[in-house]
Amino acid sequence: MSYQEIIDEVYHDVKDIDDKGKLATYIPELARVSPQKFGIHISTVSRHQHGIGDYEERFSIQSISKVLALTLAYKIKKQDIWKRVGIEPSGTAFNSLVQLEADKGIPRNPFINAGAMVIADILVTHLKNPKKDFIAFVRGLAHNSRVDYNQRVAASEKSVGYRNVALCNFIKSFDNIDNNPATVLDFYFDLCSIEMSCQELSEAFLFLAHDGRTLNGTQILTNAQTKRINALMQTCGFYDESGEFAFKVGLPGKSGVGGGIIAVHPDKYTIAVWSPRLNAKDNSYKRVRVLEKFTVKTETSIF
Ligand code: GLN
Repeated sequence: MSYQEIIDEVYHDVKDIDDKGKLATYIPELARVSPQKFGIHISTVSRHQHGIGDYEERFSIQSISKVLALTLAYKIKKQDIWKRVGIEPSGTAFNSLVQLEADKGIPRNPFINAGAMVIADILVTHLKNPKKDFIAFVRGLAHNSRVDYNQRVAASEKSVGYRNVALCNFIKSFDNIDNNPATVLDFYFDLCSIEMSCQELSEAFLFLAHDGRTLNGTQILTNAQTKRINALMQTCGFYDESGEFAFKVGLPGKSGVGGGIIAVHPDKYTIAVWSPRLNAKDNSYKRVRVLEKFTVKTETSIF
């Protein structure tokens, strides 16, 4: 069976299952999305593309952008980055404050909010015009100049982002944020507000399935750096459900509270799924189900 046939089959198997998950209403603007949305898109390193459902519609990628922010910061700072952020799974929720005290302001990994704020701080320091330069980087990866921040979503999250404000100030108290926390938070909320479709996401992440190079041959990261980002997605991409995702799906990946998920098969493909209903751990039942069925049917888990 071809990838297109398998995606079609999985889409129809999963589409109508009873999903009791809830939208991420803690960001008011995300509560306006239709919970029925459902799309899948795969891009392969052999240049094939297949999509089904709402795969061309843009949604809020939220924490998925943390992988792209890490990529750019890693490219700039190389291994120095690991002096300021860890590489261990947290086993706690993405917005948890508890470990930071014991870890003296060094977040466990770059994919929990605290870690992404340290990465945002690095980008604020090193980019001339952080918002403009970062979106230009993402547009280049997605081959699409219309990918953008959604200012309504960013403002909506900012209006209720008390916990993130607390996290950023707490890290600053340990001297692990160099810039003004308000500037870092402003950039962080913008990063989370980026909108992309499943198609654009799977294209933008292809370099992680291709030894750090885009299909056009542009070197984004070295082979060794790419391996490490994939390793971090495998161990930390789903917060306190990273183990379960590895167990069921067996691919490096990253989720976001906008309902998106990206998974990478090194040397083969990237696959993005969008389904906005989230479970209690802010992942989604349908998304994981799709990827589980897909890797079983294609026998393409990395394990
Ligand atoms: N912007 C969201 C937050 O900081 C991102 C969380 C996520 O997607 N897991 O709460």
